[in-house]
Amino acid sequence: MEYDAIVIGGGPTGVTAAIYLARSGKSVLLFEKTMIGGQIAYTYDVENYPGYIGGDGFGLSQNFVKQLDETGVKVVYEEVINLELQDKIKIIFTNKGTYSARCVILCLGAGSKKLEVPNEAKLTGKGVSYCATCDGSLYRNKTVCVLGGGNSAVEEAIYLSDIAKKVYLVLRRDEFRAESSLVKTLLRKKEEGKDIEIIKNNVTEQIVGEDKVDALILKNVKDNSTQTIDVDGVFVAIGRIPNTALLVDKVALDKQGYVIVNDKFETNIPGVFAGGDVIVKDLRQIVTAVSDGALISISANNYLRKID
Ligand SMILES: Cc1cc2nc3c(=O)[nH]c(=O)nc-3n(C[C@H](O)[C@H](O)[C@H](O)COP(=O)(O)OP(=O)(O)OC[C@H]3O[C@@H](n4cnc5c(N)ncnc54)[C@H](O)[C@@H]3O)c2cc1C
Repeated sequence: MEYDAIVIGGGPTGVTAAIYLARSGKSVLLFEKTMIGGQIAYTYDVENYPGYIGGDGFGLSQNFVKQLDETGVKVVYEEVINLELQDKIKIIFTNKGTYSARCVILCLGAGSKKLEVPNEAKLTGKGVSYCATCDGSLYRNKTVCVLGGGNSAVEEAIYLSDIAKKVYLVLRRDEFRAESSLVKTLLRKKEEGKDIEIIKNNVTEQIVGEDKVDALILKNVKDNSTQTIDVDGVFVAIGRIPNTALLVDKVALDKQGYVIVNDKFETNIPGVFAGGDVIVKDLRQIVTAVSDGALISISANNYLRKID
């Protein structure tokens, strides 16, 4: 069967695009390689999505599954491994089969760069976080550590300094990569009395803890000395990676690998749209992801009408 639209990725963006398209009468197939909900399915607490109060991300994901089912979207749990996008009919290859559609919507999301140190995976969601905006409020009056020296790390440290009792900021180099205006804001907060301790020239050797984070072991890159700092939470902000390995040489990507789209969420290939965390954008959150998904449905519908 040839579908009107194939959506790749069952996070908030893909789910929204699929629901909107199905509700406008289109046949829609959605591929998800792991779990509907995307990054949200693994989020301990979603506190900033309007109307969703005091729930975990898994609960929200379960609602996505129900809504997809009720709207008639065909969900297939397969991993897309290749795509042929140039022709009018797009061909999608998964680990189990070959499918075709008149348009394709790329919602593959992005992941955080991992530290790749002992206990990181085990304690993710139990003190290790990759998103201060999302999880920061869990650390009110506690001690946290932000890892990284770029804009996100400094922004997270600034944000957390209004919530946590103490914020360590650990960077590998002896200077920040972040914009100087951000660094100035951080230093101003420190001068104003926020308990912010900046530790330069250090990397994380190990996260310490059994069921929750207890401490971090840091190593000085200049003299190899180590130190242990007691913390309740660790915010890893060493960069993000878009899930676009599959898309290299298929659609236009920026230097960091994010998909380049115009204001209609069109890629450089006609009939191929992208949205959510996988595209170049300023704020990667559920609320912006679902907005992208809804707007993509308008563009995809216009495209399908044009080629009919
Ligand atoms: C720990 C954490 C906590 C967060 N908390 C919040 C919060 O509280 N509030 C908030 O607003 N935002 C939060 N975010 C951000 C939010 O989760 C993302 O902005 C949002 O999920 C992006 O949605 P997306 O659909 O674009 O991508 P994703 O959620 O990343 O979904 C992409 C999906 O595509 C699938 N996929 C990828 N490649 C393939 C393939 N080849 N074949 C098939 N499927 C594929 C993936 O398995 C995934 O399910 C959090 C993020 C993290 C990491």
